Amino acid sequence: MSMEDYDYLFKIVLIGNAGVGKTCLVRRFTQGLFPPGQGATIGVDFMIKTVEIKGEKVKLQIWDTAGQERFRSITQSYYRSANALILTYDITCEDSFRCLPEWLREIEQYANTTVVTILVGNKIDLLFLLSPPLPGNKIDLVEKREVMRQRAEEFANSQSMLYLETSAKESDNVEKLFLDLACELIRDA
Ligand code: GDP
Ligand code: MG
Repeated sequence: MSMEDYDYLFKIVLIGNAGVGKTCLVRRFTQGLFPPGQGATIGVDFMIKTVEIKGEKVKLQIWDTAGQERFRSITQSYYRSANALILTYDITCEDSFRCLPEWLREIEQYANTTVVTILVGNKIDLLFLLSPPLPGNKIDLVEKREVMRQRAEEFANSQSMLYLETSAKESDNVEKLFLDLACELIRDA
């Protein structure tokens, strides 16, 4: 009889430029909170959360970087044995999208060939900001998005990646992100 308290164990690794919200996504999912200010850093290598899918316990070991992405010094060991990768960019930051091919090269170089990759466009809560209404003016909605959804979807398709847009701040699609990944991993297992 197995002593394990789960049916599946998967390692999920977050990558993408610094500042796109990787740590906030992990904290939203594992702790149900959005850390204030810039203090999102987690001092541990990974966080654990067990979810239940169709009656089966799926233990997710979620690895976040401790800021190494800032210096492009993520090591091969970080990718090793990852079952899934969450490649994150910020929909309000074109630069974070333009760096995706660099990340794909790293994936190709270091990750397992069977790895499941999902592209995540984070910060959709910033899609429309209310500009401060001037006297006599009507309230304006200001588009903050720099990367159109269709463009991101097409890119994800061309690279055989799933695609999802999230907000760690508003808790939009964050649960779905990890549950979708877990489902996909079970299907492949
Ligand atoms: P990381 O470097 O990729 O780990 O990014 P962090 O998780 O540290 O987040 C970087 C900054 O973006 C912080 O100031 C967060 O508060 C902010 N941030 C993260 N996720 C969101 C989001 O969904 N919406 C908004 N508006 N800000 C976010
Ligand atoms: Mg971080």
